[in-house]
This record gives sequence, C-alpha cells and structure tokens, in this order.
Amino acid sequence: MYIDKIPHTDPSTANEVTGMWILAQALKKVGIDTMYGLVGIPVTEFAYIAQGEGIRFVGFRHEQQAGMAAATHGYLTKTPGVLLTVSSLGFLNGLTATANATVNCYPMIQISGSSDRVPIDLEQGTYEGLDQLNIAKPLVKAAYRINRPEDIMTGVVRAYRAAVSGRPGGVYLDVTTPCLGAVMERSAAEATLYTPVDLCPAMVPSPQSVTRALELLASAKKPAILIGKGAAYAGVEDKVKKLVESTGIPFYPMSMAKGVLPDDHPLSALSSRSLVMEQADVVMLVGARLNWLLSRGHGKWNPAGKFIQLDIDPEEIDINRAIAAPVVGDLASSLDALLTALPQYKMSVDPDWVKTIQTEGKAKDAKFAERLVPQTVPMTHWSALSAIKKVFEKNPDVILVNEGANTLDDTRDTLLMKLPRHRIDCATWAIMGMGMGSTVGAAIATGKSVVAIEGDSAFGFSGMDFSTICRFDLPATVVVFNNGGIYNGVGENLSGNGDPAPTTLDVKARYDKLGEAFGATTYYVATPAELETALTEAIASRKPCLIDVQLAADSGKESGHIGYLNPEALIPIKV
Ligand code: ADP
Ligand code: MG
Repeated sequence: MYIDKIPHTDPSTANEVTGMWILAQALKKVGIDTMYGLVGIPVTEFAYIAQGEGIRFVGFRHEQQAGMAAATHGYLTKTPGVLLTVSSLGFLNGLTATANATVNCYPMIQISGSSDRVPIDLEQGTYEGLDQLNIAKPLVKAAYRINRPEDIMTGVVRAYRAAVSGRPGGVYLDVTTPCLGAVMERSAAEATLYTPVDLCPAMVPSPQSVTRALELLASAKKPAILIGKGAAYAGVEDKVKKLVESTGIPFYPMSMAKGVLPDDHPLSALSSRSLVMEQADVVMLVGARLNWLLSRGHGKWNPAGKFIQLDIDPEEIDINRAIAAPVVGDLASSLDALLTALPQYKMSVDPDWVKTIQTEGKAKDAKFAERLVPQTVPMTHWSALSAIKKVFEKNPDVILVNEGANTLDDTRDTLLMKLPRHRIDCATWAIMGMGMGSTVGAAIATGKSVVAIEGDSAFGFSGMDFSTICRFDLPATVVVFNNGGIYNGVGENLSGNGDPAPTTLDVKARYDKLGEAFGATTYYVATPAELETALTEAIASRKPCLIDVQLAADSGKESGHIGYLNPEALIPIKV
C-alpha cells in the first residue's frame, strides 16, 4: 500500500513524528476540518496523514479551483478555508485564488510545500525551485515560512489569526520540504501544540464614532443604507434587519449582499440604484467599499451627500471620498452599539423619499419583467432566465454561484435572493474562473444544494473540475449558457483567414457530454420549458448534474454591463 512508504505516519506506534504529522495536529488544534488542494512532491504524504487524522481532503484537478473552493469555504464559515499546493507551478496556480481572496476579504490560508532553502537562496537550480515566500508577499494579507518542525504550531496560529481577524484575507504559509520531513520525538512535538484563545477577537467601535454616526443619520431626510458582502460575511442579517426596519430607511444590496435582507423587502431599493446615488443625503455603508463598483463615490453620486461607513478596516476610510462618520469595528459590535443607542435618536426620514423609491422600484420591476416574457427559441439569456427564475422561486435555499459577462449581469438582475450568503460570484475583481471551485466549496461548507450558472467562456476556465463535483458526489448542478463565445458567438475575424474571432468559442459544443464522461446526470435543453424541467429535476436529485443550455449565438453584448471599461476603440462585435 502506498501509505506504507510514508515514514512516521502512525502516531500510535511511533516514538518519533514528522513535521507532516505535527502540521496536521496544529491544523486540528485551530479547528481546521477541511482542506482543498492538489498533491504531488512534497505534500502527498502530508495529505494522506491529514486525511488519516480526520481532516477532510478535497482533491482537485487544478490548484486555482481548489483555492476558489477554500476561499468560498472561508467566506461561508468565517473560518479560514485551507488550500494545499505543491511547489512552483502548483503554488503559483493556487496563488491566483489566494490573491483573489485577499481582494475580496475572504479568509483563507494557502499552505504550500517548497524546496530546500539552500539551493533556492543561492539560485543553484533545484526541483521546482522558486522563492515562493517572496513571490506571495505582495499579493496576500500576510506570508510566513516555517523552517523547523518546532515552529509549525506558531506558524499555523499566526496564519489563522492573520486570515480571519481584522479585515479577512488570504495568507500564505510556506513549509519547506526539510521541515515537512523533519523528525521530532513525539513528546517534544506534542509539547509544541496548544489550543489558541480567541482567534478572531471582537473589535468594538469607539462610543464617539457611534454617536457621530447616529447624529448624522438622524439628520437625514433622504438616507439610504448600502449593504456589502462584508455584512453577509459577518452574519449580521438580524441586526441589519432591525436597523432598517426600526429606522424605515431604504437599503440597497451589493451583488453578494443580495439576500442579507430579502431582495423583495418593502424597503429594498434594489431597482432604484441611480435614485439613491443621485439624491441620498446620507448613505450608510455597511461592509461595502466605495470602490469601482460604486463609481468610487463620484460620478452619479450626490456631491452634497454625506457618508457613514461601518468597516473593520480603518484604512478603508476616506479612500475615495471624505467619510463624515466612520465607525471602525467589527460589524456585529458596531451594529450592536448603534442599535443600543438608536432609541435616543429621532429619525427625520422624508416619507416621500421612501415612497418615491418604492414607486420607481415598482415601475422599473414591471418594465424589467417584460424582458422575461418572450419565450424565444433559440433561447436568449432572458428566455433562459425566465425558466430559471421560476425554479429558484420554488427553491430559495439553493446557493447560487454565478459568473460570466451577460450571464453574470442578467442572472443577478433576474434572480431575487431571499437568504443571506446564497449568492457567490466573481465579486470585487469581476474575474472569470471561480465557478467549479466555488461550487465545490459552497457544497462542502454548507451541505446545501448549489446551482452554478455559468457563461460558456467562464465555464471553460474551470470546467475540468466539474469532475471534482462528481468524485465527491456533491448536490450541485452546473448550468452552462452556451452562446458560443466570450460575450457572444458572432465575432468577426477581420483578416478573413478562417480562424475564429478572438471572442468566438463553439456554439455547437455539447458541454453535457463532458458531464457524461464523469457520470453526472446531464441535460441538453433548447427551450425554456425544457430548462425548467431539467433544473427542477436536477436540484431535487441532490446529485451532480450538468445542463447545457443552448442559446442563440447573437444573445449577449460585449462586456455585459461594463462595456464602458473598454478602451474607446472600434471593436467589431455585433451587439
Ligand atoms: P461589496 O463588494 O459587497 O461592496 P466589499 O468586499 O467591497 O463588499 O467590502 C466589504 C467590506 O467589509 C470591506 O471593506 C471589509 O473590510 C469589510 N468587512 C469584512 N468583514 C467585516 C466585519 N466582520 N466587520 C466589519 N467589516 C467587515
Ligand atoms: Mg458566452
């Protein structure tokens, strides 16, 4: 048996233990019960040992996807997701996900095996030799290297604290091959292990900041509360509900904050984003950043409007626009403090403001609903989504993973979320290639059914890890919107040499066959009615399913909603 080759793996008989065994124990001490990764030299034996010690190991086909799974696991559980990678390329593949986690404030730890320091530092050329720690440093929240087995526990605790406390993020933990293989006496090794206290301390805001915020909020005639994924992460939906309902202030959710309060809540300003930006006199940001997704606080925003910002990171304040009332603390503590003091203040919300938002919202919703009426075949994004909307309405507890261009934008606009942390998308960087990883991470972390709605291009980045969904028999359905291209399938090659255009993929590709190869239940659907039936069945089965949704090649426009970010060139894509 392969495991026979592993030295010192059996702690019940060995007087000596390896760094690998100590690493597994240290992870258990901080409460890590799951690890995502892809093994090879020098971490294969470690994965065996960790699995043997009861840490669930979810093996992937590509490290980036294992990393996306770890990040999503971290986001959904408020504990660091763990990614295990091999040295050099495996490390680099995984690092893309760790960097993305850092940008999105998802707690995760990438543990990578690395080569012996000596030939690395002298650049002497060694197997998979790369100075990984220094490469990781600028891309992550913190990075540490463990060189000696007696330091493993310290390294793990520091990585955990860095990942999850304050603003969460990605942490890199470099463990050298000699350290993994180093042998220690069992008793000496056990003496290094301990259970750390208060791994994610509360950060209570100053009373002055709370008073300042409430005074400003109470003065507002046209206030709004803007909810970000920091609030979803913090699990403060009950407190946000209390704040919104006791003040009567309308709220607008950022993409992954949809469902913190139900999208169809009477005070939802989901369909009145422009109105909020143009007219609100006081905006309270709750775990949301004034970054590019909110025009950095400029553009349409009312120049006279004032901001209250609830955030855990003091350095987030004032990054783009003056914040009149920063409340720096963890959201649970900050909202508790605000709610406790709230009864002492009288709000002055103009009832017409709320009415205007509600009336405009209803009118916009009615207009939007018209898009979903035509049952066009071949399907457009809208006709396909009309079917999916019906199924989601009957299955509100399904977690939605969503990426693509038009597939992302149109799905976000169509599907109303009712529950917090049920929408996971390509988030702050608006990247592609998180789909299969996040689907696995969400299913493993929650045990809930997951549906990934993927553009055909987006699916291509991670499609092979559909096989991971199958190997682990997860209750996950992947829906591929195939319009045959990046944005759409009708790009033109200006040279006429017969090659596909840069945006062209394959509108005739049968993605369902890929699912068949790995034993999934598969569907190929060409009409909204077929799609509705397939997705209903797939969710009910709680088994791996893949639905290839045949769209028209000309459905979708370049860059979806963010075409304005392209350089102003004449790009010959039909819209
Ligand atoms: P969105 O994209 O939804 O606007 P962002 O990721 O841009 O969300 O912003 C989330 C914000 O929430 C970040 O500034 C982060 O520091 C903050 N945050 C994350 N977790 C917490 C927490 N527990 N308490 C307070 N703020 C938090
Ligand atoms: Mg496409």
